[in-house]
Amino acid sequence: MVSCHGADDGFNIPQNVRVGGVWGGIVKVVKSLDNLDIIPYASMRRLVRDGHSTLFWHDVWCGESRLADSFPRLFALAANQQATVADIKWRIPLRGGEEHLLLQLELALLPGGTDAWRWDLGHDGLFTVKEARVIIDLKSLLEVDVQVRWCKLLPIKVNVFLWRLVHDRLPTRWSLGIRGITLDHIMCPMCDGAPEQIHHLFCRCPVAVVLWEAMARWCQIQIPTFLVVDDIWTWVDMQNGSQIRKAVLDVLVGTLLWVIWTYRNATVFGDGSYRKDMIFDNFTLFSFNWYTFRYRNCRRNWNAWLLCPLMN
Ligand SMILES: [Zn+2]
Repeated sequence: MVSCHGADDGFNIPQNVRVGGVWGGIVKVVKSLDNLDIIPYASMRRLVRDGHSTLFWHDVWCGESRLADSFPRLFALAANQQATVADIKWRIPLRGGEEHLLLQLELALLPGGTDAWRWDLGHDGLFTVKEARVIIDLKSLLEVDVQVRWCKLLPIKVNVFLWRLVHDRLPTRWSLGIRGITLDHIMCPMCDGAPEQIHHLFCRCPVAVVLWEAMARWCQIQIPTFLVVDDIWTWVDMQNGSQIRKAVLDVLVGTLLWVIWTYRNATVFGDGSYRKDMIFDNFTLFSFNWYTFRYRNCRRNWNAWLLCPLMN
């Protein structure tokens, strides 16, 4: 892809125009994989800058789904349902439960340039056949693997991550080390206090312990001290309550593990701008977005979520 189009994300295909070309083909393929429930179409995302070639209601550019699906009432009220982002006058009549849209819109707008495509599941937003292949293989594997806990509310990238975690296939320093890859050291990048095994990283590391404790306070529940990753799933499976409560808990646990991993990666590869005190904020925001935006009937109010996500 890079050799065809350059390293810049310069794939500018207005969605209301029928196009061929490489991205046109990719979009078609991903649409058919979405029909098979393998790769979600929502992973093809518009990066919005000037907003002239992105459809406000119909393209996925803000949040995890089309705004027409997430905000059906506002969509029905829209004067121009085919408007681009640039066409929209920012005076939307919001009511309770819809305020969150404004935060979403602001986060999604990028400065400068023209709109482009991005593939959320690819490294650096690029679509590669190799990565698509890995996901297709994983998805097929997941169907026959009884140990898998596929949570439809979570994005596919988080599910793939959880699958790797359950099977101890995350590229931690420890696991790279025992596969013969020479590293400077194998200690935990978050605390430097123990070898970086998954059980340390997600259960015993002081960073993880603080996050589990904070989640317990936020959710007003008891969470035991986990020694190994399996303890987490054992605890989740022991929880009683309604289907909704269980779904929320699945989202929370999956999201917490994900934010620990992304913070860990930021510590190893990042520029130091991802601070420890930002992890919990990301945890609350991501879990809310994923819980509420995937399915309309899961809609929750942001303020109630912040108070306690397990309270109905
Ligand atoms: Zn640690």
